[in-house]
Amino acid sequence: KCTKDEKYFSQGTLTRFGNIDMNPSSGILNYGQGLFEGLKANRTEDGRILLFRPEQNARRLQMGAERMCMPSPTIEQFIHALKQIVNANKSWVPPPGKGSLYIRPLLMGSGPVLGAMPAAEYTFLIFASPVGIYHKGTLNLIVEEKFYRAFPGGTGGIKTAANYATVFKPVTEAKAKGFSDVLFLDVTTRKNIEEASTSNIFILKKNVISTPAITGTILPGITRKSIIEIARVLDYQVKERDIPAEELFDAEEVFCTGTAMVVNPVSSITYMGKRIEYKTGVNTVAQNLRTMLTGIQTGQIEDKMGWTVEIA
Ligand code: PMP
Repeated sequence: KCTKDEKYFSQGTLTRFGNIDMNPSSGILNYGQGLFEGLKANRTEDGRILLFRPEQNARRLQMGAERMCMPSPTIEQFIHALKQIVNANKSWVPPPGKGSLYIRPLLMGSGPVLGAMPAAEYTFLIFASPVGIYHKGTLNLIVEEKFYRAFPGGTGGIKTAANYATVFKPVTEAKAKGFSDVLFLDVTTRKNIEEASTSNIFILKKNVISTPAITGTILPGITRKSIIEIARVLDYQVKERDIPAEELFDAEEVFCTGTAMVVNPVSSITYMGKRIEYKTGVNTVAQNLRTMLTGIQTGQIEDKMGWTVEIA
């Protein structure tokens, strides 16, 4: 049965980080039946610890689980487990301005399976690690014209491990040429931009912010969603639409969004052999949006949206 009882998962336990037992014939090892999530806990100036929109990660995991024929934890179970993990690792949450505790939930087919079908048993686990502030400077992308990340009807819109398997080769080749990442095109028209390997993309043109619409081949990023909402509150016009790569030639700003980088300005994109440069740094829309979002995430700006969840 594809969708299992949503109360499938029982109360878990906290254990020290270390290797886990894995059945060699498990669904995850043999058929990649697995999903992951990523989010951060940040410490505020007054010593509180905040999670950012964890229910969004829970929902995205549930959506992915449905597509992957896996049971998923309830939103309450997911958030309860997150709180337990962060509470048990409070001393590992870096001081304000020094980074975050990165939290990685995993959902996988852990039961044995020989034929290509869903496993009969599932494991949900969460590990966490402190991370520094992601400072890579600006991004220097190349439009990928040979490899594709996702296709309509596939799994590009969910956070399954297999999606990342397809990007290693193009990203490794791009890095060898001095680029920071690739920008994928859609496989149907081979003209519209979709996203980078681990982040969503936005362009600014004539005061309008645009980002590719979520059609099933793009990961619905939680940072993307939050940036759209913040930009609208700040009175920017935001459009979710098809963006032909040709529009990269006359965009004023380009930026990428994701949990790790938050908002990262793009200084150049190479497309059809031409290098296009964009405005970055002070007084950019990207910087304005980044300041607002990181301010909410770290408790420096009042959270009028009700996005943060405090760890008691
Ligand atoms: N696209 C892909 C392919 C990603 O791996 C990520 C990182 N989760 C994102 C976009 C950004 O998503 P989020 O803002 O939820 O981190």
